[in-house]
Amino acid sequence: MPQYIKLTLLLYILILNSTISLFKFTFYDITTNSKPTNKKVCLIIVDGLRLDAINNMPFIQNLIKNNDAKFAISVSDKPTISRAGYMRILTGAPTDISGISSNNQHIPSPVLSISDLAIKHNLKTALCGYFWIDELFPFSFHYKKTYFIRDGTTFIDAVSIVNSFKPDFLIVHPMSVDNAGHSFGGSSMQYKNTASKIDLEIYKLYKQLSKYNYDIIITSDHGHQDFGGHTKYEENTFLTPFVFISKNTNIKLTKSINQIDIAPTLCDLLGIPKTLYMTGNSLLDNQNITTIRNVHILNPNLPFEYNLNFSLFITNILLTIHLIIYFYFIRILLAKF
Ligand SMILES: [Zn+2]
Repeated sequence: MPQYIKLTLLLYILILNSTISLFKFTFYDITTNSKPTNKKVCLIIVDGLRLDAINNMPFIQNLIKNNDAKFAISVSDKPTISRAGYMRILTGAPTDISGISSNNQHIPSPVLSISDLAIKHNLKTALCGYFWIDELFPFSFHYKKTYFIRDGTTFIDAVSIVNSFKPDFLIVHPMSVDNAGHSFGGSSMQYKNTASKIDLEIYKLYKQLSKYNYDIIITSDHGHQDFGGHTKYEENTFLTPFVFISKNTNIKLTKSINQIDIAPTLCDLLGIPKTLYMTGNSLLDNQNITTIRNVHILNPNLPFEYNLNFSLFITNILLTIHLIIYFYFIRILLAKF
């Protein structure tokens, strides 16, 4: 066999091996135990909904006033852009860990989403939203309805998905508020009116979801500056609403939560395991993940991310040793050709 073919083959096997084992059987794969809950959950990510836009959403305001919904301020870390936001909400991994920090990264997520974990535990999942979420998680939904530019039928589609498919976990992701923010600015009348329209759509979906006892979370990936856009890190871009609607789940909310707290909370609602790259805290119960974290904590006085990075460093050293041994054996094997 010519030398260059051997080398190409070797390189191919090495790359394949390193990607397959990157997250499997490593630190990333450590999870808590699952405790089935038989709950259904709908997560509504209203793209680009800044915190004060909630004042233009009378249906949600009423629920909060009547104590049928709980409210908190969701704080987003940097960067306040869509893809990074979807990642933090749907995986619970901070941007440092997931590595998805730009809207130009048209690649699948390197870490598992809540939906992947749900599928592993035999739950039905569905997505009704913009194709960017589908790009990040192409194999994470049993049923999906994605759109590219126009999203006028997002909620109508969501209602029909609920009726016909009854997923255990459903993501609904309208873009119109974000579009209005980019065109007219986050303090404009057009932006506020679009938020009101979405509020009405949420009300229609809520009526449908109530029939099947869904718990509902409404939040956003980022806000909008007064004059539109959301890359600048300021209160209008990093603060968004977090609304929790449930008839039978008791949740105690503090004034504010972090965006990465949403994923572990979803795990507890759905009764699926949390993973170690979820560095936030569940709003329901954090005991199980805290126990596992303590095993990996080197210095309890430092933030968990620090310890996580150290463990990842160790994981990478082990992977490198693994690859060197692998390389050695493959070379012996190839020499026999
Ligand atoms: Zn966005």
